[in-house]
Amino acid sequence: MEVPARIVKDPAGRSTFTVHDPEGHSLELVQPPRDGWRAGKMPAGADPVSRRILHAGIVVGDLDGATRFYGGALGFTETWRGSSSGTVLSWTNMKVPEGTDYLEFMLYGELPAPNARGTAHHLCLEVPDIEQARARLEARPHRSSYPRTLEVRLGRNRKRQLNLFDPDGTRVELMEPDTVDGRPTPPSTAPPPQRAGPTLAPVRSVAVTFDDLPAPSAGVVSNDPAALRETTEKLLAAFREHHVPVVGFVNEGKLFLEGEKPDAIEARAALLEMWLAAGLELGNHTWSHPDLNTTPLEEFEANVVRGAPVTRRLLEAGGRKLRYFRHPFLHVGLELDKRRAFEAFLAARGYTVAPVTIDDDDYVYAAVYADALRRGDRALASTVGEDYLRYMDTVFSFVEEVSRNLTGREIRQVLLLHANALNADYFSRLAGSMEKRGYRFITLEEALGDEAYGLPDSYVGRGGVSWLHHWELSAGRKRSPSPDPPGWVMKAYEGLRDGRPAGGGTPRPTWASVPPVV
Ligand SMILES: [Zn+2]
Repeated sequence: MEVPARIVKDPAGRSTFTVHDPEGHSLELVQPPRDGWRAGKMPAGADPVSRRILHAGIVVGDLDGATRFYGGALGFTETWRGSSSGTVLSWTNMKVPEGTDYLEFMLYGELPAPNARGTAHHLCLEVPDIEQARARLEARPHRSSYPRTLEVRLGRNRKRQLNLFDPDGTRVELMEPDTVDGRPTPPSTAPPPQRAGPTLAPVRSVAVTFDDLPAPSAGVVSNDPAALRETTEKLLAAFREHHVPVVGFVNEGKLFLEGEKPDAIEARAALLEMWLAAGLELGNHTWSHPDLNTTPLEEFEANVVRGAPVTRRLLEAGGRKLRYFRHPFLHVGLELDKRRAFEAFLAARGYTVAPVTIDDDDYVYAAVYADALRRGDRALASTVGEDYLRYMDTVFSFVEEVSRNLTGREIRQVLLLHANALNADYFSRLAGSMEKRGYRFITLEEALGDEAYGLPDSYVGRGGVSWLHHWELSAGRKRSPSPDPPGWVMKAYEGLRDGRPAGGGTPRPTWASVPPVV
């Protein structure tokens, strides 16, 4: 540690000097003036939500270094460790030598980008009763200018808490000092996250697929052909930048909107041609996105046949064949006979089923994102986009782990995303974070060459789930629970589905008529 040679006086006359911890956070040591700075009284009539800072959270990439610095040099002591996944350590609490105030180390293998640390770097204010604090905040006149819902959650430490975000996205956590039942929460024994060195980074591979082409209406700002052209251009530019050989799955019914003139139909078909001109492949995702679980087989098969001619014509014009099929909602049927009969139908028509191993809720984020943009709420849109990247990282680490548990290795994955505005704006960064995890982008054909895709699969059921889950269930194992978007995203999404835009405002009855697109 570097200790400055001189002690300085700050403008208030206090003696101070500053040192830096191993992550570069500044730590100012201050000697209070003789008359005391703790004597300040709360002004009369104050009605504070909280009276003290309980802890501050800082990002830490080197737990040993931080422990030596705060523990060894400054005398802090560890009070608790916690893990969000159960397999890797997420937090370590270190309290000051006298008193209960503490630092919470937010542990990372790779530190998040400097502009994405606002939920990791945080302050925590102590509140005696979280529901009371929430009621107080709800009653404040400022409440109307704060766009998010105030949601009380139970932390991994089993203390009730509520997150607020300041205008720059920095988290201010409110938390009760004790656990819900007063009993201590046992500390985690999971190992700290590892920094991936360039030689240690595993080589992973993934085929990227996009569904609901030309675009899912709930996930775009406007369904106008000109606007969709812009969305498509952005997506294709991101694919080019990262050299991603994408397969796009088409709902041809989305080309023929009621009341539209032939030139609009052509403009929509031209979007598909853009995908092919970019060297990408297209597949069949049915005409109107019906649900195999609830649609009679013959009717469903007719929908598949009806969903093919434009895509086939465009592919064949370039000397290629229509060869992939993707199940809407990933629903494969409720009875094994029906599933197998449909698979035989597909095989007889030259289709290969395009399975999905990385299933995620991008469409949930996308609906909230597109709605925010429609209302001009760029701040919310960017908060949603950042959280989408964070969430997707939890999805990748989940599938990597399930894949290792199931097969003893990491298989060639197939990622499902949707051709929406969110991915038009964020796919480039998402691809960047996948590259950081060691992924290289391969074709669907290459991915399906992995023998994992031949594992026994007799899954049928209501859930449209990852093929990793198909294989887990078919092997008689339990289905590993996949990560979900946080409550505030789900709530905003469900609000839209109920006809209410996120963040309040007048109901838009038109939304209710927009079917959920998966
Ligand atoms: Zn779909």
